Amino acid sequence: MADLFDEECDYLFKAVLIGDSGVGKSNLLSRFARGEFYLDSKPTIGVEFACRNVKVRDKLIKAQIWDTAGQERFRAITSSYYRGALGALMVYDITRRATFESMKKWLRELRDFGNPDMVVVLVGNKSDLIRSREVAREEGKNLAEAESLCFMETSALENLNVEAAFLEMITRIHQITTQRIL
Ligand code: GDP
Repeated sequence: MADLFDEECDYLFKAVLIGDSGVGKSNLLSRFARGEFYLDSKPTIGVEFACRNVKVRDKLIKAQIWDTAGQERFRAITSSYYRGALGALMVYDITRRATFESMKKWLRELRDFGNPDMVVVLVGNKSDLIRSREVAREEGKNLAEAESLCFMETSALENLNVEAAFLEMITRIHQITTQRIL
């Protein structure tokens, strides 16, 4: 049987992960792309992107997801990071309010550098850490509604909603792209 990764794909989509350092971006990506989770923070220089093929309806989509690989610590994310990206997962940590407050700043950056009709999913990660919660689910939901974003709480550690968050983004990108082609 052919390996899914070796098959020809119908579409290739680029998407990016953004959000403050330590919110779990690279673990969300490694969960989605490789089914792995790391307890320790990754080294500063990490993998810059990972790919996974997913089937949406009858089409095979290669999702190429870019990780900041630690650059956000130095505020050095450049416009090339966003170039060609059709989607973004904008991630905060539900146990650190400051990371939620940064969402407005990330949204501004996305609007300055990103494609105007980018699909954005607001992600509240670390939902497993219930006792340390600093951001209520409702707050995330309200922000998403106000900014017309999709919203999901995830746990990369417990693998909760990770697949759903990426698939929501990929499916919406697919919808927008095919509408544009037709
Ligand atoms: P990044 O800097 O945004 O890429 O964040 P990392 O993926 O490196 O994660 C930062 C830290 O948070 C690491 O120690 C991870 O093990 C931890 N972490 C990431 N996701 C979760 C999660 O869903 N739950 C818990 N409890 N810890 C997480």
